[in-house]
Order: sequence, then structure tokens, then C-alpha cells
Amino acid sequence: MIEKILANLEKSNCMSDDTFLQAVSEVLHSLEPIVNSDTRYEQFAILERLVTPDRVIQFKVQWVDDHNCVHINNGYRIQFNNSLGPYKGGLRFHPSVTTGVLKFLAFEQIFKNSLTGLPIGGAKGGSDFDPKGKSDFEIMKFCRAYMRELHQYIGARVDVPAGDIGVGNREIGYLFGEYKRITRNYDGVLSGKPYAFGGSLMRPQATGYGVVYFAREMLKEELQESLDGKVCTVSGAGNVAIHTIEKLQQLGAIVVTCSDSEGAIYDPHGIDLALLRHLKDEGKRISLAEYKNSHAHALYTQKSDYPKEAHAVWEIPCFAAFPCATQNELTLNDAQKLIENGCVAVVEGANMPTFPDAIELLQREGVLFSPGKASNAGGVAVSEFEMSQNASMEKWDFDKVDRKLDELMRQIYKRVALTAKEYGCERNFVDGANIAAFKRVAEAMILEGV
Ligand code: GLU
Repeated sequence: MIEKILANLEKSNCMSDDTFLQAVSEVLHSLEPIVNSDTRYEQFAILERLVTPDRVIQFKVQWVDDHNCVHINNGYRIQFNNSLGPYKGGLRFHPSVTTGVLKFLAFEQIFKNSLTGLPIGGAKGGSDFDPKGKSDFEIMKFCRAYMRELHQYIGARVDVPAGDIGVGNREIGYLFGEYKRITRNYDGVLSGKPYAFGGSLMRPQATGYGVVYFAREMLKEELQESLDGKVCTVSGAGNVAIHTIEKLQQLGAIVVTCSDSEGAIYDPHGIDLALLRHLKDEGKRISLAEYKNSHAHALYTQKSDYPKEAHAVWEIPCFAAFPCATQNELTLNDAQKLIENGCVAVVEGANMPTFPDAIELLQREGVLFSPGKASNAGGVAVSEFEMSQNASMEKWDFDKVDRKLDELMRQIYKRVALTAKEYGCERNFVDGANIAAFKRVAEAMILEGV
């Protein structure tokens, strides 16, 4: 049955939807032990309905740059499944954005959001707009033009977008401003807002901190190990990477790498986070090559000097690895290197950064592997906390959000590990996550009828 669904999906989706097909194939194969356990899944065509988005919205975004030149970009919102709650998921502004990429991200988001145990459905959106090199005013003008179209499809109880790659506090602020001007509604229609007007404390830190809380729990339960004093490698230099590094350092780990789209830094003394922030935080896009100017002992490797299937970050010996850049960045070759160097855990901070064959090898060799939909769910969870605060007109303090996040990440780990055990695939956190998430969504879909 699974092969038939995949073949049909391949026929009805074009080749540029490769990442979507990759994500669906991983999930459906994970579900093998469960699809025949309940006759209602077939009766209600749950799998076929689950892999078909409710709505794929595409629109034109036209805006004027600082030199009065007119630009046109594609804008998207994919509302995939709202069985558990309002559509929820980030917006990505990056030239690589296509319908296929967003369909994969929205599909993953259904499972991630289900794993949090919170009432949120799955969606994703964005644009092929490239924020690189744009002035603050250009970013604002683009965000306003994007919202002029998007506002008609979203709402605090309908669909609540947030940030993702290329969309942070600043962009959410501009998007919210325009939404309010058009609709006159002051409500929690977007999460990840600046704290000054309805944002939650800790939302910027949430994904990265959550990744580390998940890793800490997994290492404690599975290996009776801690992160204190351990060498860790992190890829990426965006919001998720920066806060993963920050929390790892707070727990005593020595983080020795980070990377951007052009190259990677290896600093055996430990990444200087203040410098990394100076180079990358708040939309600054200074090349990591600059890191060496003040840290001559560090090693900078240009990405173009490397073959396509190898990445400098994953060649560095480490106790645990945290891919926090983007999809499909950790290859079979990289996995082999990590294993040779004695890595015990790979914890995904990005969405689907590890290729399927690399995951298989890591699992076969006994490396603990956590899929992003489990370990990076802290971001969307704190987004839901923000929705909760907005709905009740409350403001929670930092410690309250942090405590709730820590507890929620431990719950996700438990849910995933127990489910894997229950279905005979102990320590396979990919299958555990997919099965646990599926059961919750499928039950809601059945109870809500066709
Ligand atoms: N973009 C983030 C993710 O991949 C956050 C989504 C949200 O907060 O809605 O989960």
C-alpha cells in the first residue's frame, strides 16, 4: 500500500518536489509497523489524505527597491493539515524556496507540531525573495507587499505564521504592522513578534535551547552521559545554530565549529559566540572568513574547496554533532567520518539536514540519531506559548517559558523513545517520532470525519 501511495504521489508531483517526496517516503516507511494495526486507517484513507496538502497558495509579490526599480517575487503559503489546531509553521525568505521545498517543510511540520502535544496543525510559507544585501527599508517594503496578499489567508484561529530562514523578529514586526493596518485586528496572528508588542520572551532562543534540552535528556537516558566537557560540532550560523551553541556552552560543552553557505570555522579553543553574533546576528551577513582576523589559530575552510559530498564541519572529531544549517547537508560520506571519529549522537537542529542513507548508516552503527521534527520542535512550541499569552493578554517571564520548554522537550523525547520501544524499533527515534506523531493526527482526522 505504501509503495502505491508513493508511486501515485510521484506521478502527481513534479521532479522539483524531490525533497517533499524524500520526506513523505521516510515517514510512510516508518509507519509500516502501524498501518495495518487499525482498519480505520484504510477505511478513512488516512495516508492518502495525510500526504495531500489542504491548500497550496501561491501569489505575486511586487515591490519597489531603494532605487525605484520594481521587483516581482513568488509568495507562498502551504496549509497542509489542520486536524489538531490552526495551521502553524514558519515563513522562509530564501532564493531556494519553491513549492516543493515548502511542501516538504509543511508536511514535516504536521508531525513536529503533533509531537509537541499542543493544539497546532501544520503549514509553511515564504518566498524566493533574497534578503541578502537588501537595506532595512527594502526588507520592510518587501514584507509589506508580501502581507498585502497573505493577510486574506491567515488569522489567529486560522493560520499563524512565524519565522524561519531569512525571517526573524524584524521581518515579523513589519509583517505584523501591515496585517494590523489592513485588517485593524490586533491579535496573535503571527508568532515570533518582537517582545515590545506581544512577542514571547525566549522565542528567539527556543529552537536552539530546545535542541540541547532534547540532547541532554537523550544522552542521560540512553548512555548515562552528560554534555559537560564534551567536544561538540555545530553547523550553521543562523538563529538556531547560535542558540544551540549558547546552550551547549552554558552546559559546559566545548563547541568547536560553525558554518555558513560559503565556508566553515574550526576553532579548537571553542567558538567565540560574541564574535559569531557580531558577524551574523540580527540579519548581518558578514562572511565567517572574518572570524580568522581576530582568531588566527582558527581554521577557515572555503566550501568551494570541498567535494559536494563532504563538509568540513563533519570531519572534526566530536562527541555529539548538531546539524543546524538547512536541509540535506549531512551526507553518507559525512556520516562515515563522524562514525570513524567516535561520535555518539547526531541531533538535528535544522529540518531534515541528514540524507536518508546517512541516517541509516548512523543508526546501523549505533549512533543515537534524533530527527529535527523531534529535537527542533522547541521553536514552534514556544510559538504556541506566544499564541496562548496573546489569547489571554498575559506575559510570562523568561523562567516560566524556559521551564515549560525544558519540560516539553523531555516529554517529546520520552514519547518518541517509548513509542519506538512499543513498536519493536527501540532507539530508532525516526520511527518513534513518525509513529507517535501520526497516531495523534490520524485519530483527529478519523474523529473529524471526511
Ligand atoms: N520555522 C520554525 C520551525 O521550523 C518555527 C515555526 C513556528 O514557530 O511556527 O519549526
